[in-house]
Amino acid sequence: MTVYSGPVFEMAANQFNVIANYLEIPMDERDRLLMPKRAVTVSCPIHRDDGTTAVFEGYRVQHHLTLGPTKGGTRFAPTVDIGEVAALAIWMSWKCALAGLPYGGAKGGVNVDLSKISRRELEALSRRYMQEMIPFVGPHTDVMAPDMGTNEQVMAWFMDTYSMYQGQTVTEIVTGKPVSSGGTLGRREATGRGVAHLAKRVMKELSINLSGSTAVVQGFGNVGSYAALDLHHFGLKVIAVSDHTGALFDERGLDIPALMRHAATHGSIAGFSNQLQFDPAQILTLPCEVLVPAALERVIDAGVAEKLRCRVLAEGANGPTTPDADLVLEKRQDEVFLIPDILCNSGGVVVSYFEWVQDLQQLFWEEEEVTRREYQILDRAFDQMLVRARADKVPHRTAAMAIGVEKVRAAKNTRGLFP
Ligand code: NAD
Repeated sequence: MTVYSGPVFEMAANQFNVIANYLEIPMDERDRLLMPKRAVTVSCPIHRDDGTTAVFEGYRVQHHLTLGPTKGGTRFAPTVDIGEVAALAIWMSWKCALAGLPYGGAKGGVNVDLSKISRRELEALSRRYMQEMIPFVGPHTDVMAPDMGTNEQVMAWFMDTYSMYQGQTVTEIVTGKPVSSGGTLGRREATGRGVAHLAKRVMKELSINLSGSTAVVQGFGNVGSYAALDLHHFGLKVIAVSDHTGALFDERGLDIPALMRHAATHGSIAGFSNQLQFDPAQILTLPCEVLVPAALERVIDAGVAEKLRCRVLAEGANGPTTPDADLVLEKRQDEVFLIPDILCNSGGVVVSYFEWVQDLQQLFWEEEEVTRREYQILDRAFDQMLVRARADKVPHRTAAMAIGVEKVRAAKNTRGLFP
């Protein structure tokens, strides 16, 4: 029992133990690799629009600082707790190491229902959260980014708040900022773009034609919408998408650019079409070539895994598949090609890294260069995962995580234990 105990942390810990067994890591080394270095809980009081005061609980977990600063998103959602944040920080560590980035993993969050606060209250909460975090973060300590429920605007408020306290503009304190405030071209699209790029690579690997193939996307936020858009541009028919308001299905393929415009104006896919409405509970098990879960964690359990009818499972979300489901997928690996989350959605942190580098150097790249370098890193990590999985006959997730864990372990062992 630790302060992190809960279903999402148990999942990250179970996954780690599978890897540690496979790598034969001695028991006395495991806690040093798994347990977060630091965790902070803060109270964020704000004035509500009606004049009352409300207090929201915020968290930040920094998993390890062995390879450089920590890096990770900030989630604003009613389900957020410290265990979930710790699990997400751990996954970020393996992800950054797999991609070869000089970062440890971090994650943060605020327990808040965004449907119940106004834009002014959101700004107050964002600024207060960052202000409470100032003693714990910094461009060379911990660099924040967006995640579920936060966006470029929230990152701009974070950066402005930190900068006001420093007395100078410090763009490199967060990534995922608007381009007008030190952000990079290609960051908004980066995660979804990477998901679609890797799905396309796997389709090529499996000799599946892009044109006329079908895709299904759960979640139509930053990751889901841009993944759907690129898959649509590659010639796939995106036959179904869902978000927290419901789902849409069209066997001829949804008009993704139009749906993105609708979601940008209305905040969700609700109201796009009455005829195309579909049961969201069915979306993950629709027959399709590419399935992209891009919303919540633990949506694919063992029961859903048995029923999946996709050829490629491209995990846009963090932790969408439970360890029980992984056992099912291991048996079905000739039917379902898994691109595990720590590889599949790593385009986001890769381009966040580019943003940080550009901010530190005050030298900005063209979008074409950002995307070319993103694909280069994703392709390298994909190749490494596949070679390892085939050589050791292990599932893709095991191979990807093992590469990440090994890199962190090697750095810890060569640096030694202080003092
Ligand atoms: P977002 O807030 O932009 O979008 C989340 C989407 O999920 C929204 O469309 C929301 O309506 C939908 N959703 C919420 N509950 C749902 C439900 N029950 N069923 C279906 N849809 C539901 O968030 P995002 O940034 O797109 O993040 C999505 C996932 O991708 C998260 O797991 C996040 O950790 C992961 N991720 C994000 C990034 C990034 O760069 N934004 C990078 C890596 C991983």
